[in-house]
Amino acid sequence: MTHVIAAPCIGDKTCACVAVCPVDSIHPTPEEAAFEYEEMLYIDPESCIDCGLCVDECPKNAVFPDDELPDKWKPYRQRNSEYFKRLLGG
Ligand code: SF4
Ligand code: SF4
Repeated sequence: MTHVIAAPCIGDKTCACVAVCPVDSIHPTPEEAAFEYEEMLYIDPESCIDCGLCVDECPKNAVFPDDELPDKWKPYRQRNSEYFKRLLGG
């Protein structure tokens, strides 16, 4: 399983989530070039350990365990993972 960032994050990017993630799964961070043009942040499903810390930290309630993702935001599961595939050139 993983956690997923959904639509409420779009346009926010306050990054409270980035600061609490113990395994650096949330990108792009403000230090990364992609931060300028990505409209939201994403969670790497390969490294997320499902600790849930980012859920409590997010002021927009944008983060969900993937099995609790509301139906209307199901596509965000793929959108999160695809961001990291794009980074790898896949
Ligand atoms: S997931 Fe939440 S805390 Fe993180 S950038 Fe998006 S809105 Fe902000
Ligand atoms: S659930 Fe934990 S490990 Fe996964 S992205 Fe959130 S803070 Fe990071």
